[in-house]
Amino acid sequence: MHRPTAFTAPGRFWRGNLHTHSTRSDGVLLPEEVCRRYRAEGYDFLALTDHFVGAYDYPIVDTQPYRTEDFTTILGAELHSGAMANGELWHILAVGLPTDFAPSHSPDFHPVEGQETGAELAARAVAAGAFVAVAHPQWSGLTLADARGITAAHAVEIYNHGCAMGCDRPDGAAIADLLLSEGRRLTMIATDDAHFYEPDHFGGWVMVKSPENTPEALLAALKSGDFYSSQGPELRDIRLFDDRIEVESSAVAAMIVQGQGTAARAVHGHSMTTPKLDLTRFGDSPWLRVTLMDAAGKKAWSNPIWR
Ligand SMILES: [Zn+2]
Ligand SMILES: [Zn+2]
Repeated sequence: MHRPTAFTAPGRFWRGNLHTHSTRSDGVLLPEEVCRRYRAEGYDFLALTDHFVGAYDYPIVDTQPYRTEDFTTILGAELHSGAMANGELWHILAVGLPTDFAPSHSPDFHPVEGQETGAELAARAVAAGAFVAVAHPQWSGLTLADARGITAAHAVEIYNHGCAMGCDRPDGAAIADLLLSEGRRLTMIATDDAHFYEPDHFGGWVMVKSPENTPEALLAALKSGDFYSSQGPELRDIRLFDDRIEVESSAVAAMIVQGQGTAARAVHGHSMTTPKLDLTRFGDSPWLRVTLMDAAGKKAWSNPIWR
């Protein structure tokens, strides 16, 4: 029997949003007000990740003054450099950057000659200590080759709430599943990408298992994959056996388990808190992941589990 470390590691789950903008780039609210609203909505932590381009003076906003007893912040930015296959500029989320992270040569939102590639910038952010994710694959129009190229990334955004509300392109699961099937050990994050000029906030978050709510402990847990993503449902335990999977959760109406290729199965019911599924359909799929859905259609996503 196997239990993912998110459920065996010491500590408790802390709720946070990893992708957020403020007036330091193209967001509507001041950093202080963004932090206040997330704290007021019951979040334990927030990463403010303004657009790291010259037009905004390469912001890595110091949110330390907005930390309180029960709310912390992780410094970060959304990085931009190099062109994707469609000729547009890369968007790469970096959570846990030092304030002196060297600017890329990225004057605005258009690729320019001589700047780093997206892959190079992502690798530089990882080397500087960041947890790095490929942002909003569907909104970006990312190809599989694009995504494959960002070899330093820890994660892919499986759900981006701003992209759900603003253009109905929230998804990262399709491209992430293809990368998993190539053997890439990626995790999956849900984020808001909040700018506060539309209802793009408090819709998708991560629940990070860590002994304490500090930037250092949260970052270590993110890099270890000790978290799950949610729009509402709570994922409390996963027990994986050779032939079945057992989950503990808040009340849900469906549990869906996905694996490589067409491998997938679902169980539907009413107010289920211990959903179970037979896995004989999954053959030798090297990875599995779990999606929960409550009666209102809100989802939670586990990280991939390698067998
Ligand atoms: Zn973006
Ligand atoms: Zn963004």
